[in-house]
Amino acid sequence: MASEDQPQTASCVRCGSELSRHAYALLLNGVRSPHCLNCAVQFRPILKRSLVVCLIVGTILTAINQGNFLMSGDFQSAMIWKIPMTYTVPFVVATVGGLLNARGTVRN
Ligand SMILES: [Zn+2]
Repeated sequence: MASEDQPQTASCVRCGSELSRHAYALLLNGVRSPHCLNCAVQFRPILKRSLVVCLIVGTILTAINQGNFLMSGDFQSAMIWKIPMTYTVPFVVATVGGLLNARGTVRN
């Protein structure tokens, strides 16, 4: 599906840097535009979607894994890192998935 949507230019539309081998075709004003990895990672629509996924999935996983402790008020010191990691993992997975979905090979 993405093969017809591969970027045709060899420079990033955001920063102008030359795209070596891979580009990330991200929707910019309704048009798929090539971005470098650095600009793609900072692309707000992907970050917004990842944040929504992070809040939904992180809350569900926290309820499953730590819900009994939270409901009983039995806070354990390990929760200081476990709960943030429970939210971080879905954020990273959603972001990487979005980037890989947009990735294509640059044609010169
Ligand atoms: Zn760029």
